[in-house]
Amino acid sequence: MWTAQAQSCCIPRLPGREQSFTVGRAMTPFVLIPFFLAPFIGSFLGVLIRRIPRDETFVSGRSYCESCHTHLSAFEMVPIFSYLVQKGRCRHCGASIDPLHLKVELAALLIPACAVLSRLIGCQLHGVPYDDAVSDLPVFFADCVLGWGLLVLSWIDLICLRLPDTITLPLLLTGLLESVVLEGWDGVYDRVMGCAAGWILFASVAWGYRRLRKRTGLGGGDVKLLALGGAWVGIAPLPSVVLLSSVLGIMTAATTIFRTGRFSMTLVVPFGPCLAGAIWIARLTLTAE
Ligand SMILES: [Zn+2]
Repeated sequence: MWTAQAQSCCIPRLPGREQSFTVGRAMTPFVLIPFFLAPFIGSFLGVLIRRIPRDETFVSGRSYCESCHTHLSAFEMVPIFSYLVQKGRCRHCGASIDPLHLKVELAALLIPACAVLSRLIGCQLHGVPYDDAVSDLPVFFADCVLGWGLLVLSWIDLICLRLPDTITLPLLLTGLLESVVLEGWDGVYDRVMGCAAGWILFASVAWGYRRLRKRTGLGGGDVKLLALGGAWVGIAPLPSVVLLSSVLGIMTAATTIFRTGRFSMTLVVPFGPCLAGAIWIARLTLTAE
């Protein structure tokens, strides 16, 4: 049952979502949970980013120094803190630690920060008190999960031009599961349609390009990533996602040409980060309304 106060909140208007779910009116300390978890999640994402491009397992195996192969103690695995205390060097052999870990842990912190910021902007635009910005904790947590997933996918694509199914497919299913849990079976219909439309659209483009140019223009990973986007935002925002990602892709290609001073029709740019960025913006726009 909605109260007058609850109705004034920043209610997520995900497609098909019934306005029958809220946790509380004001921002609660629970909002801080993703911020506390972010460095630890970032640490795990760093392991994925290091190991997946090398086809190494990330399911098991203790973390170790890649120089002297000494297993790391719990103290040496505290995100951000241990890197700063050890001044970026291994305590055993003195070898420098790849700053990638620190960068990913800090980037992971930006995900909940962006999710809160978009809600504050939504409150400002709709004239709603800032206290109501994160009254939808489950959706806020889900936004963070999506953001962390897109972050690791983008990073891996930048390194090796791959969008691994081991991350894309579970994240796609998580989007559908989120809609079942938060919106019920009525909401999941729109997400499934979005997922199918995203897959069909990019699979058709990839097929057409391959027939015309006799080479791959759009990878299978990009097809699944747009399907993932549909699973998280529904079908209506997909044209905006495609348009925005295309603009970002053209800007990336133009920057690459400008930086290298060379133009080629076979120029390869990682499209995953552009598409991931567009999906992230579409999702935050929906949940901040
Ligand atoms: Zn070492």
